[in-house]
Amino acid sequence: MNRTGHRADTYDAIILGAGAAGMMAASVAGRRGRRVLLADHADAPGRKILISGGGRCNFTNMRAGPDKYLSANPHFARSALARYTPADFLELIDGYGIAWHEKTLGQLFCDGSARQVVTMLLDQCDRGGVDLSLGRAAGAIDHADGLFRVALGGRTVSAPRLVIATGGPSIPKMGATGFAYDVARRFGLKVVEPRPALVPLTLGGDEALFRDLSGVATEVVARAGKGAFREAALFTHRGLSGPAILQISSYWRHGEAVAIDFLPDRSDGWLTAEKRARPKATIRSTLGQALPDRLADALAGRLALTGNLADLSDKALAAAAARLAAWTFRPNGTEGFARAEVTIGGVATDGLSQKTMEAKAVPGLHFIGEGVDVTGWLGGYNFQWAWASGVACGEAL
Ligand SMILES: Cc1cc2nc3c(=O)[nH]c(=O)nc-3n(C[C@H](O)[C@H](O)[C@H](O)COP(=O)(O)OP(=O)(O)OC[C@H]3O[C@@H](n4cnc5c(N)ncnc54)[C@H](O)[C@@H]3O)c2cc1C
Repeated sequence: MNRTGHRADTYDAIILGAGAAGMMAASVAGRRGRRVLLADHADAPGRKILISGGGRCNFTNMRAGPDKYLSANPHFARSALARYTPADFLELIDGYGIAWHEKTLGQLFCDGSARQVVTMLLDQCDRGGVDLSLGRAAGAIDHADGLFRVALGGRTVSAPRLVIATGGPSIPKMGATGFAYDVARRFGLKVVEPRPALVPLTLGGDEALFRDLSGVATEVVARAGKGAFREAALFTHRGLSGPAILQISSYWRHGEAVAIDFLPDRSDGWLTAEKRARPKATIRSTLGQALPDRLADALAGRLALTGNLADLSDKALAAAAARLAAWTFRPNGTEGFARAEVTIGGVATDGLSQKTMEAKAVPGLHFIGEGVDVTGWLGGYNFQWAWASGVACGEAL
């Protein structure tokens, strides 16, 4: 991609990871006149972008703000997100004539293909004269005399600045690694325990019976820790999935419960009101008015309140309504990094500058994107963090 065609071994900056954040940082630095090498061990750049959003890339969310991210320091993302907003990325998208639409909840998708986003970012890199090295894994990294030296295949490249943009370990079969954490530890930075996030939850024990509902979906409010999301939940042959569950998985910890409100539009006392209005109805028929049949069967079976509503005490009905509003599941795990859309945790933000993403204790070493302990909600927030942290870093290279 270097316009001169000359592949030098010394650069102003080496960026490892040609994903969302790495391409963005490289293009910004390159267009600022920096000589940049962008290297990836995969044969093609931006592979997660290509599969994202079902192939249409949910490239940003118009509601992005620090409150949509999880981090040990919730304020860390504020600066980068404020300086590069969803509107800024949209301007770039529009500049390339890429058609898009808002699907729901501020989520913007390409009308066509995610490939358009990768092509756009590669063109931006090209305009910055960025050198691209693909298919070569980064080996040993040395740091001496203000220079980082990186073994790349048979070659050693060096630069005063090294950017780690290798993402997190979710979906290892796509080449995802924990490389960023290894580099961070090697340079004395802390790593917040990485966990799979935006991931389906698995059910076992008594709750395994719910797996018989595989394929049933309904709108719920899912709650765990400090999170609460009103979106669809889906029963699967392994447990629970769907947007509400993926969202809540980021807040869930092993051993904790997830509470599901199956009837989020019903107010307290709705079942006793039903009893007055339709005394001959049953719990099963009442639930069947609002929920898919198989789910109504399963929930009514577990509530085990037989007979007409008129035969049931108000107290029993109030207890049933309360249980339906906070049905407690105790997942026995998640489907793991193999199925996780992102990794929560990562390089601890207290060791990084929120303005430049540079390690405070190691001048010239930067971490951006998913490898950092900043994790967005489902819905385009993770790409917005990749773009924003990439720009913040690219402007400092
Ligand atoms: C199935 C799926 C769908 C998704 N959909 C969306 C969506 O629609 N919207 C959204 O906002 N987010 C989505 N995400 C999350 C989003 O893809 C990531 O948050 C985002 O790609 C992170 O950007 P990044 O640049 O930090 O890392 P990545 O895009 O993962 O890029 C990291 C790069 O580093 C390379 N790399 C890794 N290890 C090494 C190494 N040791 N040496 C050299 N190179 C290395 C990888 O090959 C990769 O190219 C999705 C994720 C998945 C898995």
